Amino acid sequence: MGKIKIIQGDITKLTVDAIVNAANKSLLGGLGVDGAIHQAAGPQLLAECKQLHGCETGQAKITKGYQLPAKFVIHTVGPIYSGSKQDNELLRDCYINSLDLAKDHNLHSIAFPAISTGAYGFPAVPAAHIAFAAVQNWLTEYSDYQMEVIMCAFDVKTAELYRAELKK
Ligand code: ADP
Repeated sequence: MGKIKIIQGDITKLTVDAIVNAANKSLLGGLGVDGAIHQAAGPQLLAECKQLHGCETGQAKITKGYQLPAKFVIHTVGPIYSGSKQDNELLRDCYINSLDLAKDHNLHSIAFPAISTGAYGFPAVPAAHIAFAAVQNWLTEYSDYQMEVIMCAFDVKTAELYRAELKK
């Protein structure tokens, strides 16, 4: 059985099998959580990312964690919010594809930031709902697999939204 935990703080500090990066399609670094992850992991992370030749929106790719306490980084590209229905599906895909990739690598703990809710402009309330629904569905589908999912909220508001989602 899997479980969901909420943590408020900096995802780069977490000792887990994998942290998820809310990357952009180039996978060559950026601002926000992406910048923080590259900063903490060191230049070897960018060197490995250069070999990956980018990533499509909703998809995910894995690298080592280098100087991070996390063993791996799963890079996923959230949708740039446009208000279309497809945004919801692509955001959901980010969570599902990241979890699938973690399971494919036999990983048992994964931490997610609030994908797309920063520079990419996805409203925090629906994003939290989509994130929890996706993770809970995945954990139900793979109920025979041990996976600890940490939902990492950077700010108080996101942490409160996450706690409300978990109570539902
Ligand atoms: P995106 O481009 O997908 O919107 P951002 O990095 O701009 O990505 O923001 C995604 C979320 O990550 C935001 O909620 C932001 O507050 C959060 N965030 C930024 N830095 C960190 C960090 N060090 N640890 C965890 N979450 C972070």
